[in-house]
Amino acid sequence: MPEPRILILGAGPAGGATAIGLRRLGYDVEVVSDWRRFDAVEGVSQRVLEGLRHAGLGSALALAAVPARRRVHWNGTDQQLNQEYLLDRRLFDSALRDDLRRAGARVIEGRVREVHSDAQGHRVVLDNGQALLADFLVEARGRQAPLGSNRLRGPESVSLLNLWQGEPGEPVSAVESLDDGWAWMARMADGRCYWQVTLDSGATRLPGRAQLPDYCADRRQQSALVGELFGAGAWQAAELHARSSTAILAGDCVGDNWVKVGDAAMAVDPLSGNGIFQSLSSALQAPAVINTVLRHPQRVDLARRFHQERIEQLFLRFARIGRDFYAQEQRGVGQPFWDPRRSWPDDQPIHVPADFGKLQVERRPVIRDGLIDEAEVVVGPDQPLGIWHVQGVEVAPLVHGLQAGQRLETLLAHRPAGEQAMLRAWLTAQGHRA
Ligand code: FAD
Repeated sequence: MPEPRILILGAGPAGGATAIGLRRLGYDVEVVSDWRRFDAVEGVSQRVLEGLRHAGLGSALALAAVPARRRVHWNGTDQQLNQEYLLDRRLFDSALRDDLRRAGARVIEGRVREVHSDAQGHRVVLDNGQALLADFLVEARGRQAPLGSNRLRGPESVSLLNLWQGEPGEPVSAVESLDDGWAWMARMADGRCYWQVTLDSGATRLPGRAQLPDYCADRRQQSALVGELFGAGAWQAAELHARSSTAILAGDCVGDNWVKVGDAAMAVDPLSGNGIFQSLSSALQAPAVINTVLRHPQRVDLARRFHQERIEQLFLRFARIGRDFYAQEQRGVGQPFWDPRRSWPDDQPIHVPADFGKLQVERRPVIRDGLIDEAEVVVGPDQPLGIWHVQGVEVAPLVHGLQAGQRLETLLAHRPAGEQAMLRAWLTAQGHRA
C-alpha cells in the first residue's frame, strides 16, 4: 500500500498531539492551521502539564506555563486553593508548531476555506487558493470546525474575554460566581490582565457590540474581588473578544477516511477547567484509531466504537463534574443562568459505588501495539468502558476466576508478592470481600 497522505486541520493541542502520535507510528503528516485570532490565557492543572509532556509537547510548555496562586469565590465562601498554571496560548500555540516541525511534521500556515470529501479522499482549499489533497483527514479545528448532526448541546453560553495592561506583579488567577454567570480572571507577571465572564446567551440581555467593553468594565467595578486583585486599573474599558462556550458533543467522530479530535469532537464547559485535558485525551487515542483504519480496514467498526465511546464517556464525565460545581452555588437556585446548569446533562452521579457483583467480563476494543484490537476487559457501573490492565496485569482472568468460584489464593499463587498485594487492593476497591 502506498504511504497514505494524512492531513490535519488545526494545530491546537489536539491537532498537535495527533500529529506527533502519528509521527511516532512512522506516518508522514501535514498540518494546516491558521493562528488563533486573539490573545488568551487559560488555566491548567499539573495533570494537564503531564499530559502535554507525554504527548510530546514539552518544549511548548516550558515556554508558556506559569504557576499562579489561585482564589475561588463560590457559594459565598472564599478559598485559596492549590496553584494552577497559566498557559499563554499565543506563546504555547507558536511553540507547539516548533514541536511539530521538530517531530518531522510539515506545518502549513493558512486558513481552510473549503473541504470536499468523498470515499476516495479529500480536497482542502485554503484562503490563498492553494489546494491540498489527502487520503485521510483529521478534523482538529476546535470550536471553529463545522458542526455535525446528532450532537448533544449544553445550555447556550457565551464568554466575553477582556484584556488590558496593568501593573506587573505576582501571577494570580481567581474564579467568582455571579448572579447571572461566573467570571475567571488572571494576571501574568508582566501585568497583562484577563477577565472573562460567562453568561447564558438566552437569559442575559447584552448591549450592542460597541457598548460591550463599557458593560464589562461596569461589571468589573461591581466586583470586590476584581478590585482587590487588579485595583482601579480594571475599571476602564478593555479589549474584548466574545466566543461561544456552550458544551457540545459532535455526532459521528470517525468515518472510513476521517476522524475528529479535540474540541471538534467534544467541547466542554470552560468551568470544568479541563478543555485542554479532554482535547488531549481524544488526540492521544486517535493515532491508534487512524493506524487501524488505514492498515486494517476490516476493523473500522471496532476503531469507530473505541473512539466514539471514549469521547462520549469523557464528555459526559466532564459535563457531570461541571453540573456538580454549578450545584454547589446555592445562591443560584431559581436563577435562569444557574437552574439549567445544575441539572444538565442528567442526574447520574459522577461515580457509582463499587459493587463486585455487578462486574462483568466482556470483549471490548483496546489499544494494543498502536492498533485497536479486541480483548477481555472488566466492565462495571463505574467503568463502562472496561478495565484491561492494572499496572500491566490483565484483570479479566482474575474476575472471571472469582466469579467461577475459584479461590483468590489459588488465582494469585503464581504471582510475585508485590503484584498479589496490588491486585488484592484493586479487588477491594472494586467491592470484593475476601
Ligand atoms: P484549538 O485549541 O481551538 O485549536 C484549533 C486550531 O485550529 C487553532 O489553531 C485555530 O486557529 C485553527 N483553526 C480553526 N479554524 C481554522 C480554519 N478554518 N483553517 C485553519 N485553521 C483553523 N481549557 C482549559 O484547559 N483551561 C481553561 O482555562 C480554558 N478556558 C476556556 C475558556 C473559553 C471561553 C473557551 C471557549 C475554552 C476554554 N478552554 C480552556 C478550552 C480550550 O481552549 C480547548 O479545549 C482547547 O484549546 C481545544 O484544543 P483543540 O486543539 O481541540 O482546539
